[in-house]
Amino acid sequence: MLNISYNLLANEYDLDKRVIKYVLDKEMELKSKFNNIDEIKEYNQYKVIKAMQDNNLNSTHFTWTTGYGYDDMGRDKVEQIYSQIFKTEDALVRPTIASGTHAINLTLSGLLKPGDELVYITGAPYDTLKKSIGLEGDMKGTLLEFGIKYKELPLKDKKIDLDNIKNYITKDTKMVGLQRSTGYSNRNAFTIKELSDAIDIVKEIDQNIICFVDNCYGEFIEEYEPSEFNADIMAGSLIKNPGGGLALSGGYIVGRSDLIEYVSNRATAPGIGKDCGLTFGMTRNVLQGLFLAPHIVSEAIKGSILLASVYSSLGFETVPKLNDKRSDIIQAIKFDDPEKLIKFCEGIQSASPVDSYFAPVPSEMPGYEEEVIMAAGAFIQGSSIELSADGPMREPYFAYYQGGLTYEHCKLGIMKSLDNLLKYNMVQIL
Ligand SMILES: *Cc1c(COP(=O)(O)O)cnc(C)c1O
Repeated sequence: MLNISYNLLANEYDLDKRVIKYVLDKEMELKSKFNNIDEIKEYNQYKVIKAMQDNNLNSTHFTWTTGYGYDDMGRDKVEQIYSQIFKTEDALVRPTIASGTHAINLTLSGLLKPGDELVYITGAPYDTLKKSIGLEGDMKGTLLEFGIKYKELPLKDKKIDLDNIKNYITKDTKMVGLQRSTGYSNRNAFTIKELSDAIDIVKEIDQNIICFVDNCYGEFIEEYEPSEFNADIMAGSLIKNPGGGLALSGGYIVGRSDLIEYVSNRATAPGIGKDCGLTFGMTRNVLQGLFLAPHIVSEAIKGSILLASVYSSLGFETVPKLNDKRSDIIQAIKFDDPEKLIKFCEGIQSASPVDSYFAPVPSEMPGYEEEVIMAAGAFIQGSSIELSADGPMREPYFAYYQGGLTYEHCKLGIMKSLDNLLKYNMVQIL
């Protein structure tokens, strides 16, 4: 770090010099890890540009239409480019998909009919999905209310219980769901290899079972995606990795064309499918964000690794551990103390470019059971590819840290969080 940066951090940001030094020392140890990340970034960048070139993306695709949105060339182009990147037959990528939960719910409700069974084999799904399935909260419009059956194979030692998959699958099993990312749990994200080994087992039992992967936070972490192996269909959010920080909203679903057709009929209406729907002028942001995504994901992962290094050496348990193979951008830290979780999140918030002078407080959130604290001083509301940290107010008080459009911003956030904890005597730096 140049002296001018050091002086700015110490004097104008008023960071404790011990904090700056501690983080810089940890950073020094991480160079070789960062090199590996850069290699994947480079490959994914070329992959994305190639998809844009092969599909003859041109500037007229950034225009948009009105009303039904017939002949919205940009909309179709986005979907072709997504298909190529994820190596799938088809894609549905729309700014009108409100969130990742919406994208996933469209997939589940588009493909499952009354009497069909959904089996999640990666343990409990992400919190908001419990509500859309009908496992928590009220039943209105949930899968369970529509007569879809649901089962969940618990994890075994935080891994997919491969030996037990066969005992959970019945003749009614229409779909198996797998969640790649940690979510609000205490396990590592599943690697693509782990997901595809589990899918192989499912397919051996019955190759007609649809294997769905919730790919949220996993895009561009590795040099391939679960859809390149044996996942039939996948979904994710554009205000996470693939939106590259520029997509204002949206979700994507990629997979087999027969399945995308069903999901599209749910998203609009049977008979209309993918052929309607406005892009509201979002195509440029969606594609420019996709262009930037491999780079931004790499910045975010470097931030997560730095965070793991700093907090694990201070004695906190981290998930994943510093040297574990990563399959999402999330870094969880176990605080075992609600106050520490809050102070950590305050520190992250105070490093934000937007709303830096706000203090996050735990509150109720739509879709979540417990109160959640969320630090997110983001340009795009709720965007968690931007530097953010959140955690449900329940034991063992994990902070889930993710994102960062630049590594430098991550580093500042880490210093600010540590500085805040130090100020309240919640950590000791020797
Ligand atoms: C974020 C997330 C979702 C839901 O996405 P939202 O955009 O927050 O609705 C679903 N599954 C996983 C694993 C996620 O991380």
